[in-house]
Amino acid sequence: MKKDGGETPKLRMTRQRRALLETVEAHPTHPTADEVYRLVRRRLPHISLGTVYRNLELLAERGLLRKIEFGGGQMRFDGRTDQHYHVQCTKCGRLDDVAITAGSRLERSAERATGYEIQGHRVEFVGLCGQCRTARSRGRKGRASSGTKRAGTKRGCA
Ligand SMILES: [Zn+2]
Ligand SMILES: [Zn+2]
Repeated sequence: MKKDGGETPKLRMTRQRRALLETVEAHPTHPTADEVYRLVRRRLPHISLGTVYRNLELLAERGLLRKIEFGGGQMRFDGRTDQHYHVQCTKCGRLDDVAITAGSRLERSAERATGYEIQGHRVEFVGLCGQCRTARSRGRKGRASSGTKRAGTKRGCA
């Protein structure tokens, strides 16, 4: 995300934009644009998918929402705009917040190590969510599974 804090003209909060913002904020599951579209149609039955995409982008640009690109998957949106991390389930693809902070310390070490002027960082955690862990231990029949999977694995069924 850009942090230039310049004088961008204020975004007019139309009924559609407000509905989109509130929908994303009400769903901490980090919905994709398609999911937001499905949810927001309960309030605005005539809204088009194009309008949803365009306005989500705009809201993210203005820092009212956060856009998450995770492991090459579909773009998702987050009502939380503060710096935080995410963990994605390698099995079902759900995305959750990770309540830890590392932030500036990490960036300073990277700066020292590389000589770059570090402008930000991305950390992606991957693993098995609670539900998938439960399902795995139920379905386990002596099949060997080795350790944690790394990032870049394929997303499961949506
Ligand atoms: Zn899962
Ligand atoms: Zn989040």
